Amino acid sequence: MHIDITFGMFVYVVVSIFFGEPFSYTWLLWTLFSSILPDGDFVPYLILRKRMRWVSHHLVHYPLFFTAITGALMLWNTYAASLFGLAILVHFIHDTYTTKRGIRWLWPFTRTGWCYYDKKWHSVTWRKRHSMYQESLNTIPREKSTIRWEIMSRVESFNTKNIILLLCAICSVVLFM
Ligand SMILES: [Zn+2]
Repeated sequence: MHIDITFGMFVYVVVSIFFGEPFSYTWLLWTLFSSILPDGDFVPYLILRKRMRWVSHHLVHYPLFFTAITGALMLWNTYAASLFGLAILVHFIHDTYTTKRGIRWLWPFTRTGWCYYDKKWHSVTWRKRHSMYQESLNTIPREKSTIRWEIMSRVESFNTKNIILLLCAICSVVLFM
């Protein structure tokens, strides 16, 4: 999650320079919000998890769905749409490299997802994802499926590389101010 925010800061600075826009807290917050928006499925999950007996979730991890929203935003404000679209694109690229369940880049045209680990690309069919999910039902104990666990499972480790990257992103925003 914090890596998405880090990349969101870079997206904000680069896009603002490209559009010749001055610094604005509103647009910075808009970009940071967009960078974590695909993980916003977390909110309905928290509300419905008990009733629906969900253990984990990935409800809106569909890049083409957000491409359509970006297209609609273009009609309103090109700058805002670019911040939104690029922040989300970077989020999905990051997810592609960090999840083994695969990101369904071409949904609704195919339910197959793709991800990259162990130095190669993997395609994950709906069937495979479903069996991974069933497996997680057994490996994630009920008592572990708490709100705190859900949040913590989305926060990457604060290793040296990630901290340096975060500091560079903050510096780029400060220099841009
Ligand atoms: Zn995500």
